[in-house]
Amino acid sequence: MAAVTALRVLDTAPEDLFSLPAAVLAERLGGPALLRVSGIGEPLFISTLLHGNETSGWTALCRLLQRPPARMRPLIVFIGNPHAAAADVRHLPDQPDFNRIWRNAQEPYASLAAALLRQATAQPLFAAIDLHNNTGRNPHYSVVTSLDDAHLRLAYLFSDKAVHVEEPDTVLSRALQHHCPSIAVEVGPINDPHSDDLAEDLLRRAVAVAPLPEDHRNLILYRALARVHVADGASFTFDGSTARLQLTGGMEAVNFHAVPAHTEFGCSEALLGDVLQVLDPAHRDVTQRYFYQDGARICFREPVVPAMYTTDPEVVRQDCLCYLMTPVARP
Ligand SMILES: [Zn+2]
Repeated sequence: MAAVTALRVLDTAPEDLFSLPAAVLAERLGGPALLRVSGIGEPLFISTLLHGNETSGWTALCRLLQRPPARMRPLIVFIGNPHAAAADVRHLPDQPDFNRIWRNAQEPYASLAAALLRQATAQPLFAAIDLHNNTGRNPHYSVVTSLDDAHLRLAYLFSDKAVHVEEPDTVLSRALQHHCPSIAVEVGPINDPHSDDLAEDLLRRAVAVAPLPEDHRNLILYRALARVHVADGASFTFDGSTARLQLTGGMEAVNFHAVPAHTEFGCSEALLGDVLQVLDPAHRDVTQRYFYQDGARICFREPVVPAMYTTDPEVVRQDCLCYLMTPVARP
C-alpha cells in the first residue's frame, strides 16, 4: 500500500501519543501530521522524523511531554514521515527524501509541503527546530541556512558548533528561515542514548519562556564548500577489499577536524572523475579543485574540514559520502 501524504492537523494530540515508539505512529496517525500543544508565549515549531529512522527527536519530545516544565511555550509539532519510521528507513523506496521536498517538489509532496508551510507560518513563531540524527561519527551541531544574528543565537542554544549550508536549498529549515530563527540539528548517531539526551536537553531549553542566548561569540562556525559523492556506478569499499574505489574509512574519525593538504582520501586505479564527484553549492563539478591523484592515491589538494563522513553504504548512495567545510572567521 502506498504511503499517504496528505497532512493531518490535530489540535489535540491523542492522549497516549507521546508514550508511543516512532514505529507505530503511522498506524496511529495515518500519515504526516501536525499536532498542537498549548503553552505560554510564541510557539516553538518542532519537526521530527523527516527521516524515518532518525528517532532521537521523537524520543526527546515524548520525554519532554511526559514530564513538561511548569511553564512552557506552545508547540507546533510536525511528524514528517511516520511510514518510513514504521519501516525504520530514511525514506521508503517510492518516496523522496522528506528533507528535500520544501521547494520545487513533485506532487503529491509539493502539496504536503505547501500545507505544512501554510500551517507553520499562520502565526508568528519563536523559532523552528528540525531534529535529525547524524550518520557517521560527528560531534553534535546545528545547521544554519542563514547567517542572521537570531539564527546563530538559536544555533548556539544547541551547540558551540554550527555549519552554514547553502545547498541543498530544498530543506525545511530553509523554507522557514524568513519566518523565524530556524535551524536543523544533528544530535548524534541513531540508537545512542546520548543523542536522545542532547535532543531532550535542547527542547527543554527551547520551550522555556525565555529569550534566545544573548550572543553567539563562542560559536565555531563552518561553511560547507562542497559535497563529495561516489560517482554513479563506481563500486567502493572501506576495508581495502576489491572495488573500483577504496576509501579510507578512518576519515570518519576526523569529521570536524582540520585535515592538511595532501592527506590521502582513498585509492583507485581508475581516473579520479570516474570514481568521485565533488559538487559545489551551485552543483558545479569541482572534483579537481579539492582532490588530485598521485598514482592510485587520491589526496586533498588543500586543507579542509570534512564533516558527515559516513561509512554506511546506503547513505553514501542515497545522500553523499561527506561534506567539505572551511572555518568561517568570526568577528
Ligand atoms: Zn536526517
